Amino acid sequence: MHDQRVAELIGLETERQRDTLRMIASENYVSRDVLEATGSVFTNKYSEGYPGKRYYEGQRFVDPLEELAIERAKALFGVDHANVQPYSGSPANLAVYLALAKPGDTVMGMALPMGGHLTHGWPVSATGAWFRPVQYSVRREDGRIDFDEVRDLALRERPKILFCGGTAIPRTIDFPRFAEIAHEAGAVLVADIAHIAGLIAGGAHPSPVGHAEVISTTTHKTLRGPRGAMLLCDERHAKAVDKAVFPGLQGGPHNHTTAGIAVALGEAAQPSFRDYAHQVVANAKALAAALLEQGFDLVSGGTDNHLILLDLTGKGIGGKPVAKALDRAGIETNYNTVPYDTRKPFDPSGLRIGTPALTTRGLTEAQMPQVAAWMSRAVDAALKSDDAALDAIAGEVRELLRAYPV
Ligand SMILES: *Cc1c(COP(=O)(O)O)cnc(C)c1O
Repeated sequence: MHDQRVAELIGLETERQRDTLRMIASENYVSRDVLEATGSVFTNKYSEGYPGKRYYEGQRFVDPLEELAIERAKALFGVDHANVQPYSGSPANLAVYLALAKPGDTVMGMALPMGGHLTHGWPVSATGAWFRPVQYSVRREDGRIDFDEVRDLALRERPKILFCGGTAIPRTIDFPRFAEIAHEAGAVLVADIAHIAGLIAGGAHPSPVGHAEVISTTTHKTLRGPRGAMLLCDERHAKAVDKAVFPGLQGGPHNHTTAGIAVALGEAAQPSFRDYAHQVVANAKALAAALLEQGFDLVSGGTDNHLILLDLTGKGIGGKPVAKALDRAGIETNYNTVPYDTRKPFDPSGLRIGTPALTTRGLTEAQMPQVAAWMSRAVDAALKSDDAALDAIAGEVRELLRAYPV
């Protein structure tokens, strides 16, 4: 590369990703093939429209590429219709609103501090500003969704759209139960499976197909593709969804991303991806058990999926200083609110971690007690502002990861 500064930064980021234990629940490592497809000449091409109906010439190879991605998405998830053009998860969700609701309509989703996503109607998001959001929570006692509360709220408020899924939910989403409530309330159920798409594709989490009328997902989290998104639905909503994505919300699709998505969907259809998805969950369960043994509090007491939410209240320290200490110790995480958090969103009580990326590196249950021990030592070091102890952990992390190349 001729741009030395950018080349240098890419090199440094490559090393950083190699030498740190990446435990941000929404991140992963894509394959070399996905990287290559994403960095291909498809980035040069404009293709407003859909295969066979474009507004620009020269689509001889773009059309079969997008059709391939669509066919693979339909086959992998078992749906009638797939739109692979949304630029990312948030724009995909905006397209859902545009397809199914009018400004001012009532919409319902899980509150952000309870584990929902900004785009499920949180006030600072356009979705909270332009619609009338009502939000459900989790129970204070056990961190689980209270379906009686969800049902009461839905029947009272009669939302047009009911979102299920979120960004900090460590437990299985009960799609049939949500579908029942949506049906009773006259709402369209939208399953946002951004975090768990790879687990669903690999058979490690139940599928929302047959329960949710529309499914929204990113492609870059457990699904292990490029940064992008897809909308999946049955025939009934196909036209509205397509029209909402283009021309409703977007211009030309990012064809290089479509190429990467096609590759990732091909990989996710391999038997080895099923093993991957199940290993992600096995690792998270092993890590949760080891963290409990180290005296950590886990929201809902553990995990069913790839994600663990730690409540650090009992450790006498906030999530932010712990996340910063762990970063110095070579362990990448993010601070997060916990349900009913008494601290501020910029300095909350929780820490969110996940196992998708470290599972891609090849780590198994055998290494999880070590990871939990490092996390415990890092919390102690953070409480004592002991940077030397954090640097020592970073050295041990690097040493372990040498055996698991990217
Ligand atoms: C990550 C995520 C999104 C948004 O994805 P972006 O690509 O960051 O815009 C939407 N919904 C859920 C549940 C997510 O976890």
